Amino acid sequence: MLTVKQLLNLTPSKVRYRASYPRVRVVEDKPTKQYRKIYTRLALGNVESTGDSYTQTVRCHGTKKDHENYVLSPDSLIWVHCSCPYFTYHLEVVLQLQGSSRIYNSNGEMPKIRNPKLRPYLCKHLYALTLYLLAKDKKKIKK
Ligand SMILES: [Zn+2]
Repeated sequence: MLTVKQLLNLTPSKVRYRASYPRVRVVEDKPTKQYRKIYTRLALGNVESTGDSYTQTVRCHGTKKDHENYVLSPDSLIWVHCSCPYFTYHLEVVLQLQGSSRIYNSNGEMPKIRNPKLRPYLCKHLYALTLYLLAKDKKKIKK
């Protein structure tokens, strides 16, 4: 599974630039109990851009040492998914290989043309949502 820092750093600048446009709405953000005493936090987003709206899931996983830590930081391990076509065709399979997503919408074939180096990163919606959650949690730490 990949960390927030890894996924943000691997996101191409073109996608990052586009991520400044979407409007982020967090639909749900709550801790959930998971198997093997590792806790996770589930954040569901609805990011809108150029009239389209897609659903995102970000799951922040605790570690064995710190299994109840829900605060999203650059070192958090995350599991992500977005319902947009970009995510489906560029990223879903690649992120599943890293244990950071699951195949729901694509046919499971490697994105040989769209992402030939199998680079794991975030679509603009997930990029925007992740930055939003990081900023929100930073405030939480300060309090
Ligand atoms: Zn997306």
